[in-house]
Amino acid sequence: MLYKRSSQLFAEAEKVIPGGVNSPVRAFKAVGGAPIFVHSAKGAYLYDEDGNRLIDYINSWGPMILGHAFEPVVQAVIEKAKLGTSFGMPTELETQIAALAVSMVPNIDKIRFVNSGTEACMSAVRLARGFTKKDKIIKFAGCYHGHSDSFLIQAGSGAITFGSPNSPGVTAGTAKDTLLATYNDLDNVSALIEANKDEIAAIIVEPVAGNMGCIPPNKGFLEGLRQLCTDNGILLIFDEVMTGFRLARGGVQELFGVDADIVCFGKVIGGGLPVGAFAAREEIMNLLAPLGPVYQAGTLSGNPLAMAAGLAMLQTLDNDRAIFQRLADKTAYLHEGIEKVLKANNVVFTINRIGSMISVHFDAAPVVDLKSAGKGDNDTFKKFFHGLLQEGIYIAPSAYETWFITDALSYEDLDFTIQAIDKVSKTF
Ligand SMILES: *Cc1c(COP(=O)(O)O)cnc(C)c1O
Repeated sequence: MLYKRSSQLFAEAEKVIPGGVNSPVRAFKAVGGAPIFVHSAKGAYLYDEDGNRLIDYINSWGPMILGHAFEPVVQAVIEKAKLGTSFGMPTELETQIAALAVSMVPNIDKIRFVNSGTEACMSAVRLARGFTKKDKIIKFAGCYHGHSDSFLIQAGSGAITFGSPNSPGVTAGTAKDTLLATYNDLDNVSALIEANKDEIAAIIVEPVAGNMGCIPPNKGFLEGLRQLCTDNGILLIFDEVMTGFRLARGGVQELFGVDADIVCFGKVIGGGLPVGAFAAREEIMNLLAPLGPVYQAGTLSGNPLAMAAGLAMLQTLDNDRAIFQRLADKTAYLHEGIEKVLKANNVVFTINRIGSMISVHFDAAPVVDLKSAGKGDNDTFKKFFHGLLQEGIYIAPSAYETWFITDALSYEDLDFTIQAIDKVSKTF
């Protein structure tokens, strides 16, 4: 396949946009080459500016769980757009999507909508600090919670890919309030709490990590965090921006039966439009302005087009209860297929999978945290990535990313992918 026009478009973009992209993970820095410019997408496929068709395993980094240009979402946006695109005044639609989200997710009474996952996590931490009247937070190395200053401390995927785990521009004053823990290591978290007694407002965690490849929590890890938080007056924040409405109707809280105090959403909840949200029980949410003193706002928050897309998405997921099992079955099928061909071709690898999230790591050791995720062989990954691109398969251009399986992917698409991986891995 040729990617000639994409390369030309990238050269033009580089002149006027830093690095030619509006979000660094889109660049092909870790794998080399020019990013693919998309013309359109439908179902499981992307159509690029050179006229190539690509099977998409990124799916806008998670939101398109039903596939691209899903008809009810597209229709909802078109109909709403005719009625005006933004008012800065309340609409009935906001209550409808809020009520539906609250009914789907366990353990939350109220939800507030924002414009991105970053905003959701940033606001959740402010709220936790306001509620507990404490300053520090614990985050895990390799977990990504958006690009707000307090989170850019060993922040996963994009930040690792670009070798700047601690970004310039984050002040020492901000960084000192973010304590860094090791994923899946409860003893480490206990020790941090002990050393910072009565100073920690919140532990924020991706309850299934997805930004250092896919790393499910070890047995007892989330339960242990819950207990430590309860024992020490700390709020537990589940960042379900990636996992919410993807791993189960009620997200990881439902899947593992562990309650968080505040939950953050993004990606799927917006149906492909810019949406984030954070939610909690009433006593916490009522601290937000205008009811309480914790300030949080947004000109375009609850935007009617975004809410219409999100509502159509959540309604579809709510009405089709079999979808999460169907996605998990497809992902398991892909897992088995990839495992078989990589083994046959004597490739050293580890595959992590949960629900519709899967990642392939080119190292034999179990991948359980940032350190083990970093051991994968990047030269092999580069060959893998570019080989698959030539076969018309698009995976994330970084070894630190999860693949997202969508309902639009057929078993023929999966078989085609497995065959392509067989072919490509013979060239390693
Ligand atoms: C994508 C992501 C974010 C950030 O969301 P944006 O909409 O990109 O700001 C936060 N947390 C997690 C777990 C994510 O995967």
